[in-house]
Amino acid sequence: MPWNRPLIIGLLVVLLALTWWRLQPEDEEIHRSQLMMGTIVEIMAGGQETSKLEVAVDAAFAEIARLDKLLSRHNPDSDVSRLSQSGKGREVAVETAEVIALGLEVAQSSGGAFDLTLGRLKSLWGFDKETPTVPDREALSAALVGIGPGALSLEGQQVSKRATNLQVDLGGIAKGYAVDRAITVLKQHGVTSAAVNAGGDMYLLGQRSQRAKHPERFWRIGLQHPRQKDAVLETVQVRDRAVVTSGDYERFFEQEGIRYHHIFDPQSGLPARGCRSVTIIADSVALGDALATAVFVLGPEAGLKLMTQYPKAEGLIVTADGTLHTSPGWTRYQVTP
Ligand code: AMP
Ligand code: MG
Repeated sequence: MPWNRPLIIGLLVVLLALTWWRLQPEDEEIHRSQLMMGTIVEIMAGGQETSKLEVAVDAAFAEIARLDKLLSRHNPDSDVSRLSQSGKGREVAVETAEVIALGLEVAQSSGGAFDLTLGRLKSLWGFDKETPTVPDREALSAALVGIGPGALSLEGQQVSKRATNLQVDLGGIAKGYAVDRAITVLKQHGVTSAAVNAGGDMYLLGQRSQRAKHPERFWRIGLQHPRQKDAVLETVQVRDRAVVTSGDYERFFEQEGIRYHHIFDPQSGLPARGCRSVTIIADSVALGDALATAVFVLGPEAGLKLMTQYPKAEGLIVTADGTLHTSPGWTRYQVTP
């Protein structure tokens, strides 16, 4: 049979295309973790050469460390500790002011369920110590004096305190803010695909790398079941979104059969009782973080009402009796089994 020229050219083109495809660098993905901000921070980044990803991830961790120094109550020289030590208030760093501004907004919108001034209460419960204890009533009442959404005010970078002994605690929002900043740094380094997780405060950037099996390459996130260790409650698929969970299983102790955890109802000073866990999907991790804590405190009914003020955010609530409630748009992210 005589060779057909168009067929040969066609075959050559296919061969060249295959060779080119084989020569493309593999879609790299690196995974690193560090103990920071009182939790394990994990960063996964992909889509570039490993050496570039390493530089980007190092810079993202450095950014989180920098913010931890500003925002942590454990560091006596931090911006937040200095603010707490100050009598009437002081000027804070731009980043601290940004966190406080968002925190105050959610404090207002949640009617005070979210509160940046629970520092004395948190110390009293001692969740950061080896043996936390249930405080007595008088001590609890004393720790709540002067707190509330109007207790702090912000003008530019100037924070004013209503009472001199107010202790500021950004524990309900700072990790989220730090994850947002880490994502910004990764993007600045040209990373287009990444996942950052700081103990349940996550952001999923871009598409999952080529290796992911799902054709649309969403990130698939298994949400922790609040009562079954290592079991998935539900799986969601997202990209370019924050997924943040607040749960009563994260930090708790039991006394006489009662679970005491670290998310407080500012009205009573006791752990909030309406929920086991709350997951928020939002545009920013800082907002998701504050909302998850606020909805947890409010419970399902008032919590879902609060969420109507944030139409771009969706939520999943597991109530104290194990019932699931979701905001109307939640199904958009649900992976049906
Ligand atoms: P999260 O895990 O984001 O719900 O945050 C829990 C942390 O937020 C606690 O360890 C406290 O530092 C702080 N926190 C507890 N209760 C509240 C509250 N009602 N409003 C704001 N922050 C809170
Ligand atoms: Mg939070």
